[in-house]
Amino acid sequence: MNTQRIKYMSYRTLREISTISLILISVLFNTTQTTAQNVYANFDITTSWLDFEEVIDVWTKYVQSEDDSIASQYWNKNEVEKYGYLAYNLNKLALSPNFLEMVKWGNVQIMSIRKIDEYYKIKSHIYWERNDSIRTMMYINVYTKKDQNGDYKLYNAFPINLKKYWNKETVGYIHFYFPKYHQFDKVKAIKQNNFITTTLPEIFGTKPDTVHYVFADTQKEMLEVTGIDFLVGGSGTEKPTGKASKSNNYVHCSGVGEYYPHELFHIFEQSKKYNYRHSWISEGIATFLGGSRGKPLAWHIKKANLYFKNHLEINLSEMINLRNKHIDEYTGFTYVLGGTIIQLIHEKGGWDLVKEFITNKGNNDEYYKGIEDVLGVPQKELNTYIRNELNRLSTK
Ligand SMILES: [Zn+2]
Repeated sequence: MNTQRIKYMSYRTLREISTISLILISVLFNTTQTTAQNVYANFDITTSWLDFEEVIDVWTKYVQSEDDSIASQYWNKNEVEKYGYLAYNLNKLALSPNFLEMVKWGNVQIMSIRKIDEYYKIKSHIYWERNDSIRTMMYINVYTKKDQNGDYKLYNAFPINLKKYWNKETVGYIHFYFPKYHQFDKVKAIKQNNFITTTLPEIFGTKPDTVHYVFADTQKEMLEVTGIDFLVGGSGTEKPTGKASKSNNYVHCSGVGEYYPHELFHIFEQSKKYNYRHSWISEGIATFLGGSRGKPLAWHIKKANLYFKNHLEINLSEMINLRNKHIDEYTGFTYVLGGTIIQLIHEKGGWDLVKEFITNKGNNDEYYKGIEDVLGVPQKELNTYIRNELNRLSTK
């Protein structure tokens, strides 16, 4: 590679693997037990007529920081104050648990630095090396400009890109952001606003609040607007996606347009009165109310019914063991089975019974016990019961 080495940092051992995203874990387990973190600038950037030393320096210090409490000093004050020192880097939305954890194990090659308006845009290639081969994690852009003290500080690409390249419409409480080619569908937008001003308050007594709803046709565009040109794991068919960030009321969706109540429910679900700690409750209600992967619950139920008919070996009395497993890339068991349980409870006793079920259910035993309490079905009978109900609901 034609690179000039700028800085070098000592070897670190792997730790805190449990907190790193699934994609990263799979990369790490295919990698050696130690890793080095180097920051390079491409050969053309460090020539004498381009004076990027300070720009490179602030980015290098940032990515080599141990954690956000140190790294946040290199970020602009406004965003750190607005989002907090753990959430100021908005690429947290795409990279769990956070950006620094992701880059800690890799090398950073600065590909280009371009002047865009008052900023410099830094494009970096983040990768791992193993057995003389390169494993690319991502291509990412971050912006920088001087603060009033003359020090360069880093900026999220996301708000800059949104303002410069995307359109915005506001309907009620929701700010919709979308690519310029998209023709805004106001009818769907009003329906989505009604979901948070009428549907959710009527069911759960939630108060409507401002939501930033960012959407595009493809996941690729959604990554690009946040400053990520490439992220490992984006292969296969383009399917609808959604993500809700409760800390700042942002929803990111692709392939679902102006109406995707599943993620809106996640924004408002943190009511103390109804503690949805169990993920099957949270995803179950979200899927019952707003579908999953852009498809209604009924669509997933039909698929699950056929699937379980062909898989009699699966014991649905232990259905929570199927969490993190999927029928295919569209239907996850948490969503379809969690949603079915909510639908069955709702059929029997409406939202009052659902609320009784969802209160204080934290662990799996409480979840199964809750089903027995409201539906009268003990855990050991769930296998037969759920198979029969999926079949009934499929032919409805
Ligand atoms: Zn969800």
